[in-house]
Amino acid sequence: MYDTLTTSYTFACPVHGETHVRLSRFRRLEQLPGAQHPAVFRVEFDCGCGGAHPGLVSHDDLDWAPLGLDDDRTFVNLMTSRTDLLRVELGDVAATRIKAGEWPWSFFCFPEERPRPVTPSSFRLLAPAADGDHVGLAVRCPVCSRVSVNLVSRAHVDVPFVNDREVGVVEHLFAEDVAATADEFHAELWSGSFDARRLGLE
Ligand SMILES: [Zn+2]
Ligand SMILES: [Zn+2]
Repeated sequence: MYDTLTTSYTFACPVHGETHVRLSRFRRLEQLPGAQHPAVFRVEFDCGCGGAHPGLVSHDDLDWAPLGLDDDRTFVNLMTSRTDLLRVELGDVAATRIKAGEWPWSFFCFPEERPRPVTPSSFRLLAPAADGDHVGLAVRCPVCSRVSVNLVSRAHVDVPFVNDREVGVVEHLFAEDVAATADEFHAELWSGSFDARRLGLE
């Protein structure tokens, strides 16, 4: 489902049969109702074929697989010449960085006026910016539950522990449910009214 080495998800595509997309190509994420363990998210993504398709992603695949914690593949450890599990190595790296105060993902919560750590299951809507390098990102804050819209680089979304030093923030209070937010999201995003905020989490 998720490939740690290419940081991409595999989905079905009616044209290509199968396609690999990075998180920044997701357009909408919605948790399916009901108490599944783990929870399942319905996503929509922009496909390389030019279309947009739906897909299903488990909570684990969204939040933990990018950190390599689900990866059953092995690699030859050049330090020890032993064959090690990728997930143990990547898990160690992730744990060390989190302990050092680095977060895999972060965003700027506009209602709280502060940066917050976050995981992709809190992302709700994404839209590509005109420059091709950035995406508008609507995040439901895990702490205050309100929605903020940030303008961030693709790498900020796609690569764990790569955080923009500064992000664009839309100074607007959004509705909490995704359906109501979607129209506001696109309207605010293209109005270009972003304010720069620093993302240091210390
Ligand atoms: Zn496709
Ligand atoms: Zn918040």
